[in-house]
Amino acid sequence: MTDLKYKRLLVKLSGEALMGQYDFGIDPSVIAQLSRELEGLQQAGVELGVVVGGGNLFRGAQLAEAGVDRVTGDHMGMLATVMNALALRDGLQKRGLKATVMSGLDMPQVCDRYTQREARQRIADGGIVIFAAGTGCPYFTTDTGASLRAVEIQADLMVKATKVDGIYNKDPIRFQDAVKYDHIDYDQAIDQRLGVMDVAAMILCNDNTLDMVVCDMSESGVLLELAKGKSIGTLVTRKEA
Ligand code: UDP
Repeated sequence: MTDLKYKRLLVKLSGEALMGQYDFGIDPSVIAQLSRELEGLQQAGVELGVVVGGGNLFRGAQLAEAGVDRVTGDHMGMLATVMNALALRDGLQKRGLKATVMSGLDMPQVCDRYTQREARQRIADGGIVIFAAGTGCPYFTTDTGASLRAVEIQADLMVKATKVDGIYNKDPIRFQDAVKYDHIDYDQAIDQRLGVMDVAAMILCNDNTLDMVVCDMSESGVLLELAKGKSIGTLVTRKEA
């Protein structure tokens, strides 16, 4: 068994991460690569929960801008996360892994209903649980859903996979002199409006002393190195008292 610093991870994947080379939808090669990655982690003894976003398909706020009722738009967004979760479950199951989808919205013909107790049991039994439909409520994001599920399953670390390799003091794509943080606290991230994730999500992590790493996990092996305790990306923690 590998020496692990973090035994139980909650990995948050944005919907956009699943698009790969496409402008919309799901790239099967990304699902295959992610599934290989998660299999490697599981073989190393890491317990895994995964939250998937839906931004590659629908986002409620964008639909509302186009004239759709906001709550309806958010329901569409949550359904998008379920589609992504099913695709990932399929990829994992094709590799012979015990993967299930638990949704914050009930849809018994499609996937299982989320309950905290059952989710924890499945993860402790070595299954990978993919959490779909975010919090199950409109006006939230899957980042908040991820923080909530991470706290509920008592994850040791939440990993937010992004396109950039960590958190910078300003947008590294627009500003060449942007500086990357190795470590910041939630108060700083909120005060400086670093746009890492929404404030509700960060407050939940902070209040429950849940550490988070923001990193680019497109390179193979990153998640396992993180679980072993290697410093990758930016670590966000509660401010020391
Ligand atoms: N959503 C929601 N409640 C939640 C989580 C998500 O209503 O608890 C909806 C919301 O419309 C959101 C969409 O689902 O825009 C997709 O989630 P998100 O934008 O967080 O996906 P990501 O940006 O991670 O791909």
